Amino acid sequence: MKLNERGLLIVLSGPSGVGKGTVRKALFEMEGHDLVYSTSMTTRPPREGEAEGVDYYFVSKEEFEERIKNDAFLEWAQFVGHYYGTPRDKVEEQLKLGKEVVLEIEVQGALQVREKTSDAVFVFIAPPNKESLYRRLLRRGTESNEVIQKRMDKAQREFPLAHKYDYIVVNDEVTNAADRILAIIRAEHAKTERSIHKYNQLLEVIENE
Ligand code: 5GP
Repeated sequence: MKLNERGLLIVLSGPSGVGKGTVRKALFEMEGHDLVYSTSMTTRPPREGEAEGVDYYFVSKEEFEERIKNDAFLEWAQFVGHYYGTPRDKVEEQLKLGKEVVLEIEVQGALQVREKTSDAVFVFIAPPNKESLYRRLLRRGTESNEVIQKRMDKAQREFPLAHKYDYIVVNDEVTNAADRILAIIRAEHAKTERSIHKYNQLLEVIENE
């Protein structure tokens, strides 16, 4: 029965610098779930310590644009001078297997997914305050002042879009934030529209006894 059930798509999103990546990693380190992370593709050069196929699939601009033409992305966006996108085939494959697939993407991309899919859960990860966002971008130490300023300006424009999401999780503390996301995923499974068919099957068995 499980094989025929489509998995749940979970979209973690929010402005750059809120700590989405850290929260996502903490979430995957937690026990008691069977989540699959969808590795994105980007034209941004790798940062120190980032590995191909783990953090991203790093490709050239030409290769990315070719994939856009072939409609190979579930969503894609340009972010501060680089392309980022979610390879469609991998996500589809996992969802068909009944897996819970997590995307960690920026706001434009999340809104594209929102328009295209009817059965996904959207979580906006918010910073506890503006200063923490700036501090996090500075601490990363990998971007120039100009890029940091661009990321900050973009974040400023993205804050008001939180209302388009199903949930808002404030990243006041990484483990707490990851905990809350796991609780959201569990609650989503129990939602009537997702669990009613299983309940109906049970009801049939009870009624036929
Ligand atoms: P970074 O360069 O800091 O790794 O990522 C920049 C932004 O792009 C972050 O907000 C990150 O979540 C987002 N991002 C990563 N992968 C994707 C993707 O596949 N699609 C979209 N739309 N955004 C992505």
